[in-house]
Amino acid sequence: MFTHNLGYPRIGSKRELKRACEQFWAGKSTKDELLWIGRQIKRQNWQLQQEAGIDLIPSNDFSLYDHILDTAMLVGAIPERYHALVDGQTNRELDIYFAMARGVQRDGLDIPAMEMTKWFDTNYHYIVPEFTKNKHFKRYSDKIIIDFEDAKQMGIITKPVLVGPVSFLLLGKEKESGFHRIDLLEKLLPIYIDILQELAARGAKWIQLDEPCLTLDLTENEQIAFQQAYQKIKKAVPNLNILVATYFECTGENIYVATTLDIDVLHLDLVRCPSQLDDIFEQTDFAKTKKILSLGVVDGRNIWKNDYAKSLKIIQKAIDVLGHERVMIAPSCSLLHSPCDLDLEQNGQVLTPTIKNWMAFAKQKLNEVNVLRKLAEPTSAPLFAQQFTENQKAIQSRKDSNLIHKPQVKARVAALTAKDSHRPSPFAVRQALQLETLKLPLFPTTTIGSFPQTDDVRVLRANLKKGVISQEEYDAQIAIAIEKSIHWQEQIGLDVLVHGEFERNDMVEYFGEQLSGYVFSQNGWVQSYGSRCVKPPIIYGDVERPTAMTVRWSEFAQSKTEKLMKGMLTGPITILQWSFVRDDQARKTTAFQIAMAIRDEVLDLEKAGIRVIQIDEPAIREGLPLRRADWENYLQWAVEAFRLSASGVKDETQIHTHMCYSEFNDIIKHIADMDADVITIETSRSQMELLDAFVDFKYPNEIGPGVYDIHSPRVPETEEMLALLEKALVNIPARNLWVNPDCGLKTRRWAETELALKNMIKATELLREKV
Ligand code: GLN
Ligand code: ZN
Repeated sequence: MFTHNLGYPRIGSKRELKRACEQFWAGKSTKDELLWIGRQIKRQNWQLQQEAGIDLIPSNDFSLYDHILDTAMLVGAIPERYHALVDGQTNRELDIYFAMARGVQRDGLDIPAMEMTKWFDTNYHYIVPEFTKNKHFKRYSDKIIIDFEDAKQMGIITKPVLVGPVSFLLLGKEKESGFHRIDLLEKLLPIYIDILQELAARGAKWIQLDEPCLTLDLTENEQIAFQQAYQKIKKAVPNLNILVATYFECTGENIYVATTLDIDVLHLDLVRCPSQLDDIFEQTDFAKTKKILSLGVVDGRNIWKNDYAKSLKIIQKAIDVLGHERVMIAPSCSLLHSPCDLDLEQNGQVLTPTIKNWMAFAKQKLNEVNVLRKLAEPTSAPLFAQQFTENQKAIQSRKDSNLIHKPQVKARVAALTAKDSHRPSPFAVRQALQLETLKLPLFPTTTIGSFPQTDDVRVLRANLKKGVISQEEYDAQIAIAIEKSIHWQEQIGLDVLVHGEFERNDMVEYFGEQLSGYVFSQNGWVQSYGSRCVKPPIIYGDVERPTAMTVRWSEFAQSKTEKLMKGMLTGPITILQWSFVRDDQARKTTAFQIAMAIRDEVLDLEKAGIRVIQIDEPAIREGLPLRRADWENYLQWAVEAFRLSASGVKDETQIHTHMCYSEFNDIIKHIADMDADVITIETSRSQMELLDAFVDFKYPNEIGPGVYDIHSPRVPETEEMLALLEKALVNIPARNLWVNPDCGLKTRRWAETELALKNMIKATELLREKV
């Protein structure tokens, strides 16, 4: 019985790759230095996997930026606009590569980057391949070969990993009309085959082709494409063992396609979709073939220790049907989505020993894969009895721990009724009351919450953490920043003010740090895109709010102005979505617990005299399940969680929500169901196009379509914003229209923020004169 791994984190356990890339981009290091660091990481990873007892170790899973971009380079899917960078003489591969990833602006060149989008339902982002009708693929990069040879030098014959040809096409985008990208398969396959033949000639025995699109809704055409692709590949490289990996969802109705592919091993994600194992035996003829089944039993997407007893049951079931030789054991998906190494967390520093004992990061997961294999084989099982016992002790201690289980939190969520997620009166009644009591002018102006996080503010926070300044000194400085921003907002004439969020590092971390049931790692970084990494907070237990989290600063801010001060909170779905979550209860339950903590905060803000409260939910859309059929269920509870957080207040208290990076068309009904009094959205980059969904739906509540793009330092002109507002006003009733930027201003500098907001207010005044 073989063990294998689908991919290992590439950022380095101390984020070495991040630093190396950023140095190189800044012109502070050479190409060779960058490549050298990349090579060290690869070699360390290979060695570490070998030591952990992994039989089939991946190569080509490493990438300097993104593995889909690597594949585009490999098959020469380089869009026209970068051809200017190719000069026949010198090797410009890396320049082109980073130009595609990040764009170039130098030597008279100005070429934008390729589009980036979320990798399935993870927080990783990949570069979207671009296809044109007459695309000619040709082998361009030799990275996959170089890496294979490099590992060979270390004595490791790896299993090269490559995104499969069908998923590669499906994950891309047509750049002209008149064809479907899947039509390019015929032209793409020879390149894949050429690479596989060369790898086989150089001694490769195994290849892993990732086809995660097998877990999505597929058309018949696409299903056929899978079948044809693998027939051709197998025929061309009959001696190479081909492993096709699916992950992140059930293969569902594609199970027939997946099990009849001309391949040697099929990998299934049994963490996300355990029922697939029964399905494959009951509904298909897989057992009657000679194929091997790779069981993805160790969760590659989360940080919890594997439950050996549970996994062994699954493994045993597969062995009973297939025999030992036809079973492989692996993580559920690439470990790219796990932090690197739990051993780097110093005991007691951030994670207590008890909680740490419940966790496994990438390196620990490799060991789990190996131990599971040993436990599943009768000859080695007795030797690992001790490890099994320890594992079960840890699992049991988590099940029983009163650090996790708080009866009062569970009871509260269990006792919720429909009334708890409804405001006392319908929107029309609330709107009339709010109009009367809040006394806002037509087209009220506001901002989304944060003001520039200048170096001063960051240094302040760093100094507090290092103990260079005391909490009192820190608070005094924050108070000064808030007061200054309030005076300035009054001066330029904003209607609903914000305190500026200077005290917040991050919109989720700030709340996580104050909620019980949350812990933070020191080194639990995961790649988000390119050199950008995130360190998601970890929800380990029932979530409760020990004390008020934001009231102090909001109350302080309100005391400094006669104007309305908006309270600022992050919503339950966004907090859930951007954290590592529990695997011992449904996401919905965790969301409801967080919602109740936010609800308490909303009520405390109201009690403290805050009459406008914004609950940000930018992540609602990205929580959507991969399969359409599952959307409704998710949206139901996601919207209910938001409503639970918002519905405790009086009719007069105005609830705002904010969403960015979103398309609304197919979820507008649910957005309306959230029933926020005011929603602010990102629309300026699409010239108000994103507003169409609201207009078509006849969205009844108030709305603030962002009038300027905060992602760019560019200061928009008054006329530009006025034009956008007039465009919005064609379809939105005047009394429902708010004026605001697209998103928070924390990434901007003050100079441009001041000018832009002044122009925004001028535009509003002009609009008020016109109507
Ligand atoms: N209130 C947050 C801010 O202004 C919202 C951020 C977001 O939507 N991503 O920074
Ligand atoms: Zn936003």
